[in-house]
Amino acid sequence: MKFLPAILVTLLMDRGSRGNLWMLLRFCTLLLAMMVLYTVLFHILMVWEGQDHSWISGMYWVVTTMTTLGFGDITFKSDIGRIYSIIVMFSGVFMLLVMLPFTFIEFLYAPWMKAQSNARAPREVSPHLRGHVIIVNHGPVAETLIEQLTGQQVPYVLIVPELPDALRMHDLGLSVLHGMVDDPHTYRNAGAERAALLATLGSELVNTNIAFTVREISEKVPIFATARSDTAEEVLRRAGETQVLRLGRMLGMGMARRTHGGDNLAHVVGSFGDLLVAEAAVHRTPLVGKTLRGARLREHLGVAIACVWERGKMQTAGPDTRIEEHTILVVIATRAQLDAWDETFCIYNANPDPVLVIGSGRVGRSAIRHLTTRRIAYRVIDTQPQRALDPAYMIEGDATDRAVLERAGIMQAPTVLITTHDDDTNIFLTILCRALRPDMQIISRVTRDRNVNTVDRAGADCVLSYASLGANAISNHLRHTNVLMLTEGLSLIRVKIPPELVGRTLKDSNVRAQTGCLVVAIDTPTGTQALPPPDQPLPADGDLLLVGDEDAENRFLVRYRPTERHTGAWKRTES
Ligand code: AMP
Repeated sequence: MKFLPAILVTLLMDRGSRGNLWMLLRFCTLLLAMMVLYTVLFHILMVWEGQDHSWISGMYWVVTTMTTLGFGDITFKSDIGRIYSIIVMFSGVFMLLVMLPFTFIEFLYAPWMKAQSNARAPREVSPHLRGHVIIVNHGPVAETLIEQLTGQQVPYVLIVPELPDALRMHDLGLSVLHGMVDDPHTYRNAGAERAALLATLGSELVNTNIAFTVREISEKVPIFATARSDTAEEVLRRAGETQVLRLGRMLGMGMARRTHGGDNLAHVVGSFGDLLVAEAAVHRTPLVGKTLRGARLREHLGVAIACVWERGKMQTAGPDTRIEEHTILVVIATRAQLDAWDETFCIYNANPDPVLVIGSGRVGRSAIRHLTTRRIAYRVIDTQPQRALDPAYMIEGDATDRAVLERAGIMQAPTVLITTHDDDTNIFLTILCRALRPDMQIISRVTRDRNVNTVDRAGADCVLSYASLGANAISNHLRHTNVLMLTEGLSLIRVKIPPELVGRTLKDSNVRAQTGCLVVAIDTPTGTQALPPPDQPLPADGDLLLVGDEDAENRFLVRYRPTERHTGAWKRTES
């Protein structure tokens, strides 16, 4: 019963339902008018027969005759009166036994049931809800983000404009709110001014409208919006406090960065002051086959290995981690140390043949731009030649056709980047490329997270998920403001040196073994010391800069309980 007002509101708000109620009212009016007319005629005929009855008796006779009850206490004696009785009886059967139930079901019962069902779709969040995430547009990124938020126990609300969709998702257990995405009331009802973040993941035009609509409600709530073009990015930034996610571009760059290509240079993905985080392929270098301990990179080059990418999955690195042919090392180093790295490994030229890029869409073109800045030769296959950045390197055709792949040089290419947005195509192409070239590096994109494992099993060396990339960028912003995700799964955090560690060395305290976090720098009022030696005591006044995955970070926070966490100035390198 507590839903009654909500059902009535839903019923009265809906134009169709209002029309139905109007039809029902018209039918009842018609029925009433018939009964009044029959009562008047009853009186005229009774007076003509010489009988005397009150108006109430007349109405009583009409009702008992129309409903076919016919008690028989008031009857006509003349033939005309009896013919009149038959007419009233038949019209009563038609109106009350046929039309009334039909009209009632059609125009009241069914709309009522529909309104009751529709009232299930929430239209506002609890006024006590705060720190939640508002998500607009349900797609692959939203799907993964919702999974992550649920895991992190962060409340969220998904705005769904279409009622049937809202009901379906509500029934699936998602936290939805039904409302128009360009209506300020929707964001007021979603508690935008109390939200931790709003993510709008639709087309850039819709996102721009939403960003400006939300700013009417709250000037502060951080907005994350996806965009494809530079112009849209610029326009979106005018909404203020808006983070623009260029996922296609980020994904293309991520794929290109992990490409062996013709070099083994380290590629910077982020920085903190003088300290850089870079990813480096090791293909055809003497590092392949060694453990990290055996490679002695710290001793020779001064760099630290934060973690490794193995077949597209980030794994924490320990002394016994083995370096394989397709391992990508995540290196923490200063600029000088990275230069030394490049000088050491650039001589191991991997393969001068062009890298193959399948698909010249947003992701493919972004990858090509990045490969070009690395001076890596490429060939691109696309069914639509007009999509080429440079027609000289375009091979027109369908990459699922083996002859097209061979024409594009699959048999020689060191790496293939599979960039189409269709996961089925990418799985097919991964299997085909692996069958043709068991030794080549295959980097594949997936749009939906659930396909990562399938592409992995299909033989890709590295799988990058569009959905994870977007969801991670958003959920990492929430976890702590002092955490920065540099690559998927790898965060950088900055904490005050815990009292328990003051005066102790990193070797003694064994932070790495105990928590999985790597101390990459110590920041004191006098400056930042990158990669502190393991036997140097930690000062009392300063911050530790740590690298680790989410589990490692949580272990550190639980184990050492740092009193204060700072907002670091980590910067992600995207372009
Ligand atoms: P996007 O729309 O950004 O995902 O770009 C995908 C690109 O890949 C488009 O330019 C498509 O024409 C291209 N593409 C999709 N499937 C194939 C295929 N089987 N062979 C070659 N190009 C393809």
